[in-house]
Amino acid sequence: MYASIIIDISHEKVDKTFQYRIPKELEDQVKVGTQVQIPFGTGNHIRKGYVVGLSGTAEFDIGRIKDIAGIVAHSITAESRLIQAAWWMKERYGSTMNQALKTVLPVKQKVKQKEIRWIRRLLSEDETKKAAEEAGKKHYQARQRLLLALCGREEIPYEKAMTHMNLSASTIKPMVEQGMIALESETVFRNPAIGDGFHPRAVALNEEQAGIAADFAARYDAGIRETALIHGITGSGKTEVYMEMISHVLEKGRQVIVLIPEIALTYQTVLRFYRRFGKQVSVINSRMSAGERYDQFLRAKNGEVRVMIGPRSALFTPFSSLGLIIIDEEHETAYKSEISPRYHARETAIYLAEAAEASVVLGSATPSLEAYSRALKGEYRLYRLLKRARPDSRIARVQVIDLREELKNGNKSIFSRRLQRAMEERLEKGEQTMLFMNRRGYASFVSCRSCGEAVRCPHCDVTLTLHFGQKLVCHYCGYETRLPETCPSCRSPYIAGFGTGTQKIEELTKKMFPAARVLRMDMDTTSKKGGHEKILTAFAQGQADILIGTQMIVKGHDFPKVTLAGVLAADLSLYTSDFRCGERTFQLLTQAAGRAGRGKLPGEVLIQTYNPEHYSIVCAASQDYESFYRQEMVYREVLHYPPSWELLAVMASSASEEELAKAMEDLKRQVFKALEGLPEGENVQVIGPAQATIYKVNDIYRKILYLKHENYDILIKLKNHMDQESRQAVWHHHVAIQFDLA
Ligand code: ADP
Ligand code: ZN
Ligand code: ZN
Repeated sequence: MYASIIIDISHEKVDKTFQYRIPKELEDQVKVGTQVQIPFGTGNHIRKGYVVGLSGTAEFDIGRIKDIAGIVAHSITAESRLIQAAWWMKERYGSTMNQALKTVLPVKQKVKQKEIRWIRRLLSEDETKKAAEEAGKKHYQARQRLLLALCGREEIPYEKAMTHMNLSASTIKPMVEQGMIALESETVFRNPAIGDGFHPRAVALNEEQAGIAADFAARYDAGIRETALIHGITGSGKTEVYMEMISHVLEKGRQVIVLIPEIALTYQTVLRFYRRFGKQVSVINSRMSAGERYDQFLRAKNGEVRVMIGPRSALFTPFSSLGLIIIDEEHETAYKSEISPRYHARETAIYLAEAAEASVVLGSATPSLEAYSRALKGEYRLYRLLKRARPDSRIARVQVIDLREELKNGNKSIFSRRLQRAMEERLEKGEQTMLFMNRRGYASFVSCRSCGEAVRCPHCDVTLTLHFGQKLVCHYCGYETRLPETCPSCRSPYIAGFGTGTQKIEELTKKMFPAARVLRMDMDTTSKKGGHEKILTAFAQGQADILIGTQMIVKGHDFPKVTLAGVLAADLSLYTSDFRCGERTFQLLTQAAGRAGRGKLPGEVLIQTYNPEHYSIVCAASQDYESFYRQEMVYREVLHYPPSWELLAVMASSASEEELAKAMEDLKRQVFKALEGLPEGENVQVIGPAQATIYKVNDIYRKILYLKHENYDILIKLKNHMDQESRQAVWHHHVAIQFDLA
């Protein structure tokens, strides 16, 4: 037997492996992930390395292959576990070992030392308060914001204060001169976590919250490691429960990973953890450079950081004694990787936790059907939070508005009369409104009124989207063109924009309420670093009356002055080809409804739809998760979709339509041939090959073949078979194959 070994695991090229022979006496002990000693280079100096692969065949001249010298004692390090995880991901999700290793191992890169500046207050707490009042009277608003922020703590980081509080040097300078504050700097290792306040005090948990925290602690102390799901309505105080659990696990000397979807990873969210756990907390996000991430992982490995917060990639924090993984908003699609290995953070967390003897806690107001069905079966422990946590906060009233009726009554506007009135009322009372669109720029395509053709992207199988009424953009490949004056198909001059993107809604809102201050938040306005954070902060501070956005505004901030949430076209997300579209619609509507009435003021939610009878909409309106779950589960069972059955998508893409078609038919034949030798696989359903929802993207054609079966292992076997066969196929160099387990 031979082992492939990597020596420098933080090297960018993890594919730089060396093959060694495994001596007979070590054969039982050498596994993927094992740390071994090997003679290296011409001097045969003994170095340490990790095994990343095993093979029965030598890759080069047997005479030149050296033997593994021994196994490193106590060799199960965090890295060993991550390498094992890479192997597991490769097998489970179908990717190369290389892709998997690159996903789990941080890459070392030079990190510049960076100077960090702080604003320190020189006044006492009381003096600061007084100064803030005075500043307010004189309308020095920026100064007032800074002073108020300094009331709670002695110092705040300069950079963050400038951006988040929208301060400028002209605010700071006179304050320094007047001896109110001082600027300090220190050269430190980059740490993107914010602030320096350490306030270990927590809110007193209510009975529901305390019950869950206590049960968790008791089971943890009894040595039980398991996966639990907290099904808690929006605002029920899940985050406070997580923090209690984290605190318990930290006390045991172990570390914690907290996954939060990137979009909800805002200053406010992180600050809550920071307040409770101080400098033990750190954050990673996808905008950080490889060097910055490496730093964070190093700090975690050294024990400086004990709670790592981040999106799905934070799962691979190399903690030495991981005790708990929390996944907030467990149902979010962002937890599934879109590149190979297409891993799901939930499954991967459970795998990692098992290896580290840690527990997993999932939380959501709208759990995925996968998680909830497992919880009902007893595979996960199920906890419920049925009440809003803040005593003054009430569940909003939800009403469904039938847009067909509006049309019948002659209202062609995108705003129903009921919604218009409700918005007017909010403006009069100085309260805030949020308007949701299910998708960015949806349906704001341009079509011809003479021939009916829509203007399409020349490279992709989609219509182009109208921006600012003059530019046509492809959201898939970035192709841009000017709005043509005549129809490209029939030359008719009668072409026009249709539909209602977020921009259009902004335009219409401003026309209807000229005095209202309107903010828009979608991919276009938030593509810059920190863009969405800035808009949300401005809105939370009352700098606008109405916030319009795609689903991205459903998360992250508490907006106590929002008393109206309007969903403009609830059914848009119902018409996608994804079998989860009903679930997505329900989740989006429930989360949107959860945004209104978080403060003392009662909230109202208006859902406009052409499908008022659809159960996703009916159940979201009555905020009845159980009922939604039952109906959706029937659909999944009847059609054999997950979580009832398992689903494997085989996606092939090629620049040549012909090669693609050949490859797909070939793969399908391979599947049937493999099934003959698999008696337990007799019920495998093969669907397709069919064209992908969007057949052509960037001049590449795409097809999909679906395989369904009750048993996961059968699908894995078929995947491995197809993987092997495709490597030897004649079309191998022209067609790319990817696997996706739903
Ligand atoms: P979730 O994560 O379930 O959406 P949060 O943990 O964010 O809920 O709590 C919602 C709001 O209720 C927050 O403002 C939080 O500070 C507050 N809150 C949570 N628990 C309590 C409690 N026991 N008493 C008072 N307020 C609470
Ligand atoms: Zn035309
Ligand atoms: Zn395109």
